[in-house]
Amino acid sequence: MTHAVIAGLADVRAELIELYKDLHQHPELSLQETRTAALLAQRLRDGGFDEVTEKVGMTGVVGVLRNGAGPVVMLRADFDALPVEEDTGLPYASRARAVDREGVEVPVMHACGHDMHAACLIGAATLLAGARERWSGTLLVVFQPAEELAVGARGMIDDGLFERFPQPEIVLGQHVGPLPAGFIGYGTGPVMAASDSLAVTLHGRGAHGSRPEASIDPVLMAANVVTRLQGIVAREVPPSESAVVTVGRLHAGTKDNIIPDKAELSINIRSYTPQVRDLVRAAIERIVRAESAASGATSPPDLDWFGSTPPLVSEPDATQATVAAFAEHFGQQQVMTMPQVNASEDVGVFGEELQVPTVFWFWGGLEAESTVTAFLEGRMDDLPSNHSPSFAPVIEPTLSTGVEALTIAAMTWLGAPE
Ligand code: ZN
Ligand code: ZN
Repeated sequence: MTHAVIAGLADVRAELIELYKDLHQHPELSLQETRTAALLAQRLRDGGFDEVTEKVGMTGVVGVLRNGAGPVVMLRADFDALPVEEDTGLPYASRARAVDREGVEVPVMHACGHDMHAACLIGAATLLAGARERWSGTLLVVFQPAEELAVGARGMIDDGLFERFPQPEIVLGQHVGPLPAGFIGYGTGPVMAASDSLAVTLHGRGAHGSRPEASIDPVLMAANVVTRLQGIVAREVPPSESAVVTVGRLHAGTKDNIIPDKAELSINIRSYTPQVRDLVRAAIERIVRAESAASGATSPPDLDWFGSTPPLVSEPDATQATVAAFAEHFGQQQVMTMPQVNASEDVGVFGEELQVPTVFWFWGGLEAESTVTAFLEGRMDDLPSNHSPSFAPVIEPTLSTGVEALTIAAMTWLGAPE
């Protein structure tokens, strides 16, 4: 039955490839995705959806296809791009530029492959709309903006996603990545990390560079904080658990012979369990306050947590059922388990909000033969991956695999025809 739905792909493949190239050449930064959103909404209508709503959570797009009694199944794709200058050399490479939220002009590129996610979801939605006699229930298609800022899912929910549209019983999504094209990778349980960010301002006392005795040096304070933070993962997190603490920004001073009066740090942490997350957060706060006190600072540091994303949990039973359908369609040898990914994704926010399962998988976008060779030779780190200026999926078989995977996953959870 699923095969008959997929058969429609041959008729729309060429159009989807054109759509993908168009999206790739016209990337838009998070929450500026207006052209992309309008294009996706139009393609949903063309594909047979009569209920299409734009501007849900700023630039989100929602399509609803009601097809009799049965489960409500949500398919989700993100569609924002990144401030990266494309260096793929592809004929359809992006040369786009945009002004970011700080007012700075930046290059823009679909360096995370969200253009492929969006094109594949249009493909799956079109196939399912064209084969309504083969399933029953309601299909909820969600194009989510601003995944790279980890605010898009929350923004759509806060704008009434689950009050204005049918509530799904399951959320299905996928991410393209540095696996061989044609392959699906999956995990069960926490598959991507929770992410939390912290802005710290350390207060010292400024002075002439020749008079350290008159200063409370925030540069030395910051250096000690950075070094001391490394002990959290090394000495406090149990070796059987995993966490990352990264200081991604460190700023102090203007000139060599001036001791500044403050230093600023931006810290990002990744974790998989609430216990480890709480432990790491508490340890960072303790260390920052203690180093400040140890340096004799007269005012305590400012700590401001922001940008929090929960871990992405792919519900084990639902994932196994979906993956079994993938193995039947693609062949067992095309489906493999994957280790946890330390990156984060906000797709889990939807299922968490409704307390329904999320199933999330990865699929390959790299030319298969050279990727397998690199894997066998232990050179996977040499291959371009998400967020790199040289990362762009090979269009086929990546596009077809992504469309088929979404369609098969949806068919696994939609009802049998009435
Ligand atoms: Zn990304
Ligand atoms: Zn991404």
